[in-house]
Amino acid sequence: MSLLIIGSIALDTVQNRFGKVKDALGGSAVYASLAASYFCKNVSIVGVVGTDFPKENIKLLKSKGIDTSGLEIADGKTFRWKGKYENLNEAITLKTSLNVFANFSPKIPDNFSLCEYLFLGNIDPELQISVLSQMKRPKIIAADTMNFWIEGKNKSLKKLLKMIDILFINEEEIRMLTGESYIFDAAEKVLQMGLKLIIIKQGEYGSIAIAKNNLFFAPIFPVQKVIDPTGAGDCFAGGFMGYIASQNNINYETLKRATIYGTITSSFNIEGFSVEIIKNINRVQIDNRYNILKKYTQFS
Ligand code: AMP
Repeated sequence: MSLLIIGSIALDTVQNRFGKVKDALGGSAVYASLAASYFCKNVSIVGVVGTDFPKENIKLLKSKGIDTSGLEIADGKTFRWKGKYENLNEAITLKTSLNVFANFSPKIPDNFSLCEYLFLGNIDPELQISVLSQMKRPKIIAADTMNFWIEGKNKSLKKLLKMIDILFINEEEIRMLTGESYIFDAAEKVLQMGLKLIIIKQGEYGSIAIAKNNLFFAPIFPVQKVIDPTGAGDCFAGGFMGYIASQNNINYETLKRATIYGTITSSFNIEGFSVEIIKNINRVQIDNRYNILKKYTQFS
């Protein structure tokens, strides 16, 4: 089955106590599509970069079988995000430069409008809505967002939430979005907008998938050393959506497995800066960690 991903394509400058990278490949669509490519053979991305975007980044996406024909190269500079971490659970944004994203008007090629699975990665909710409105109804529409848009584009974000099936969000963001401090109350409020599933990410404590009458608690995979958490949420969503698209049969069991596959793909990503690790893994490594996590969490 086919999976279309839209989101930011970025050059990130990130600093934490383990080091610093400047203008390194990042962005929600990049992390999510790389993660999804390990599960789904038919992944496409839509987004925009500037003329300064290094060609080898596009080559990398293509080498993973990702269809980049929906990638626009516009006059101007690529989107840039600058952030730092004082503790590895919380990214502090120092600067967001929308650059070519400020005037981006996504045009979905005809062959993409039929994709069965759609992931609206973190970007301006108005762009997410614009992409969604150009699609023939996908089977599953999922979206991600962040504090920058919850504060800056709240009305558009609430409009988007009425149009999607699955929301990926972290616990601080869902509190900010709903004004509820207890996350199950917050989830209930969002479910009432018509969503089928909300996945609340809780950093090093794992994630909770919450549906109307069902729940799944996922732990994290305990890696030896976290180097840089940038992109963890996007890799989680990409792994989740890639797995769902590969199964094309959505029930409680596949949703649980998708949540664990999301957890595992993000566990690799946080072991290095930028896409250094996530670009070089394989399905055998992913399944090894999946089986270890299964052993650690089963009980009778
Ligand atoms: P994550 O760590 O999964 O939440 O996502 C990190 C990625 O989000 C980085 O690679 C950034 O380029 C990207 N990013 C940061 N701020 C924004 C924003 N306002 N809109 C879209 N993408 C962003």
